[in-house]
Amino acid sequence: MRLAVLGIAILLVLVVLLPLVRALRAPRRREVAGDALVKDPVCETYVVRSRAVTRRFAEGLRHFCSAECARRYAGG
Ligand SMILES: [Zn+2]
Repeated sequence: MRLAVLGIAILLVLVVLLPLVRALRAPRRREVAGDALVKDPVCETYVVRSRAVTRRFAEGLRHFCSAECARRYAGG
């Protein structure tokens, strides 16, 4: 009787934990796949797009590693 309870408890833990582990892993993989690298035209560093400083200019959108590079590109 005790063994059966233990077996059910282990099964419950597995049923609860396995989707949790999968849920924890999935978003990280998606983040890596969806984040493209963009080049900073000022210092020529590659930056992850979601973390880059993005500015719109007459020639289009430009991505920078920092606000400092954005300012330098604009000619300030
Ligand atoms: Zn830069």
